Amino acid sequence: MVIIKSPKQIEKIKASNQLVAKTLNFLKEEVKPGVDTLYLDHLAEKMAKENDAKPAFKGYRGFPYSICASVNNMVVHGFPSATPLEEGDILSIDFGIYKDGYYGDAALTVPVGTIAGNAQQLMKITEESLYKGIEMAVPEGRLSDISHAIQQHVEGAGFAIVRKFVGHGIGSKLHEDPQIPNFGKPGNGIILKPGMTFAIEPMVNEKGYDVDILEDGWTVVTKDGHLSAHFEHTIAITENGPVILSHVNGSEKVYA
Ligand code: MG
Repeated sequence: MVIIKSPKQIEKIKASNQLVAKTLNFLKEEVKPGVDTLYLDHLAEKMAKENDAKPAFKGYRGFPYSICASVNNMVVHGFPSATPLEEGDILSIDFGIYKDGYYGDAALTVPVGTIAGNAQQLMKITEESLYKGIEMAVPEGRLSDISHAIQQHVEGAGFAIVRKFVGHGIGSKLHEDPQIPNFGKPGNGIILKPGMTFAIEPMVNEKGYDVDILEDGWTVVTKDGHLSAHFEHTIAITENGPVILSHVNGSEKVYA
C-alpha cells in the first residue's frame, strides 16, 4: 500500500533529507586520493549524532555501517574500508537518516582526483537519468513512466541499467511501497498522486547489467568487473509536480 503523506509529514521527511544532503555534500568535499572510506563513515555518523539524528542504515537488517561506500565496480551496499581511495577511482556514497520519526535517503557518485573519460560519462548519464525519472513523477502519471524515462536515457547513451535493485517509497519506514524499478514500459503501475514520497535511485553499469553479491552478503558488484555509478534523491509529488527533498541548499526546484 502506498502511503499518502500530509504536508506536515512531508516537512519532516524534508528535514531528514536536508540533513542527508548536507552530509553528502560535506563528504563529497573530503573525497580525495589517500582518504579511506571508513573515515567518511565516521564523519557521517558524527554529523548525524550532532544533529540528534540516527544513521538509518547502521543496523538495518544487520548492515554494519552508516554509509554505503561503493568503489569502481561496486554497484551499491559496499562496506566502508581502511583501504585508501586512489586517483582515478569513482566512489558511490549512499546515506540515510532517521530523525523525528521520518527517513531521508540519497546517494551520489564522486570522482577521486582526475578520472577517465568513460567514468566521467557514466557518472553524468547516471545523474541525468535520475532527473529524467524525477521529471515523470507528476500527479496522474504512472509509476513506470519514471522507470521508462530512466532506462531510455541510460540505454540511449550505451550504458546498462541494473535490474536487481530498485527505488522505493519512503516515509516513517526506510523502504515503503511502491518498488520503483529503473526499467520498464511506460503507462504501467500505480497512478501517481500528490503526497507520495519516493526515493528514486538509478544504478548504472558501464557494460552489462548483471550483478553479483560478495561473500559479505551485502556488497553488490558488476558481474563483468566494469564500473558502476549510483545517484539517488528523495522526492515528494505535489499538485505542481515533483519536489526534490534531498537537494542540497534546500532548493525546492520543481520539475513539471
Ligand atoms: Mg534508497
